[in-house]
Amino acid sequence: QNNILFIRSFMILLLSCMTIRINLCFSSNYSSLKTLSVDGNFTFDDVHHAAKDFGNRFQFLPFAVLHPRSVSDIATTIKHIWQMGPHSKLTVAARGHGHSLQGQAQVHGGLVINMESLQEPKMHVHAGNYPYIDVSGGELWINILHESLKYGLAPKSWTDYLHLTVGGTLSNAGISGQAFRHGPQISNVYQLEVVTGKGEVLNCSEHQNSDLFYSVLGGLGQFGIITRARISLEPAPDMVKWIRILYSDFSTFSRDQEVLISAENSFDYVEGFVIINRTGLLNNWRSSFNPQDPIQASQFESDGRTLFCLELAKYFNTDKMDATNEQEVMILLSQLRYIPSTLFLSEVPYIEFLDRVHVSEVKLRSKGLWEVPHPWLNLLVPKSKIHNFAEEVFGNIFTNTSNGPVLIYPVKKSKWDNRTSAVIPEEDIFYLVAFLSSAVPSSTGTDGLEHILYQNRRILEFCGAARLGFKQYLPHYTTQEDWQAHFGPQWEVFVQRKSAYDPLAILAPGQRIFQKAI
Ligand code: FAD
Repeated sequence: QNNILFIRSFMILLLSCMTIRINLCFSSNYSSLKTLSVDGNFTFDDVHHAAKDFGNRFQFLPFAVLHPRSVSDIATTIKHIWQMGPHSKLTVAARGHGHSLQGQAQVHGGLVINMESLQEPKMHVHAGNYPYIDVSGGELWINILHESLKYGLAPKSWTDYLHLTVGGTLSNAGISGQAFRHGPQISNVYQLEVVTGKGEVLNCSEHQNSDLFYSVLGGLGQFGIITRARISLEPAPDMVKWIRILYSDFSTFSRDQEVLISAENSFDYVEGFVIINRTGLLNNWRSSFNPQDPIQASQFESDGRTLFCLELAKYFNTDKMDATNEQEVMILLSQLRYIPSTLFLSEVPYIEFLDRVHVSEVKLRSKGLWEVPHPWLNLLVPKSKIHNFAEEVFGNIFTNTSNGPVLIYPVKKSKWDNRTSAVIPEEDIFYLVAFLSSAVPSSTGTDGLEHILYQNRRILEFCGAARLGFKQYLPHYTTQEDWQAHFGPQWEVFVQRKSAYDPLAILAPGQRIFQKAI
């Protein structure tokens, strides 16, 4: 009896000590940040927004949010936390547009830096032989597009959705249908300004602090906060010929994709997606695309079938789209072996093409379907294994695409710089396969979160067991062993870079790769 009483009292004492320690820790963090002189401001109450992301599955409440107005706000704050040393538990997450999937831009009890409020530098376009734009790390790609178009220029490499920040996509890679030609967004940056985990502000590029430059690109926010980026531009077209064609056979579909990404003179954008058992598919397309053969297209049945849609785009200028360009497109199409009745074409302004996902966002928001859980799974699968993958995943595991699009398209390794931190498969060509599912909240059916997560697990288990040599894109792991396996031979360099630029592991704790040394 006495022993039990003793243990109970001891436990209560221990808990009280822990609570007092947490409270002391909180109040010392609070008071120390409050004393910092910044151009922007800290908020301590209104922090709930920073505990959310697009994935809508993980919520970690920070204790404060910094809304920086200048780079020195960020540097002063990080330097202060660095100087508090390993005894302070405080960690820092830069938050771009919060479109991560599993809390990567969040921090439990730490400080979130709201990068979108960073006001400097003002966007500045430099025209000339090698045009570029200087932007803040918190700038949205859609704003960069609008600004650079004023000079008839635009970035070369995109993501499918433009309401993401420069710092957020450059911390991953930034992949879309232009990547086969220009590489991912991380291959199209000339220079960065970075605040390291010690609070130093450093410029870096291929020639200056090059190790930091390549560490940060694809570095999952681990080595520094990107406060400025110099992004390469090209002359912008004003229109896009946008094409969709269908295949019923995966081998023919992927062969055509590979032909197109390897050809000298090809389309400007090559993507693709999988359609499983969709009713009235081509009728739905008619609202935005025109069938080349309306009668045959109206007779095409998609019900019960697994189809592969190749999506292509050719850029042009209104004054230059003449018979020769039309002919060029037709010659390119004539090399492909799609189902003839399924050729659909459309012509749209360049900006409308690039901002296409935003149109869906607006529609989904109006129906309350945007802020639902998004258990997305993104994989990079080597070309030699993609048939094996498609056969099992689209044949047995993933039996309908009604929960969201499934993208699949190849890119070329030669367009990626192996000095960056991004992790990709070993082969010359690999495919991005993106399962972009939305879950119906509280459903226990096949559109519910549990079922989708179960399917994702099955896909990952299959890929592992079949030794496909795949990598996760926008990776999510919870143990350091898994991260080590993800990085493979690059792990050692990744760890060295961490100890050089963020030795106390203050930055991007939401990635769950390193723990702050305490
Ligand atoms: P956040 O989610 O805010 O941050 C992501 C990570 O980067 C976090 O770890 C954060 O701490 C860190 N971080 C943020 N800002 C900085 C900074 N300035 N410096 C250092 N680290 C920073 N990706 C593609 O490649 N291609 C696509 O086509 C594509 N389409 C998408 C479509 C939608 C609808 C969505 C929601 C996402 C898509 N993504 C795509 C994924 C997207 O690129 C990543 O989720 C990206 O991280 C989101 O950017 P963000 O600004 O919201 O970053």
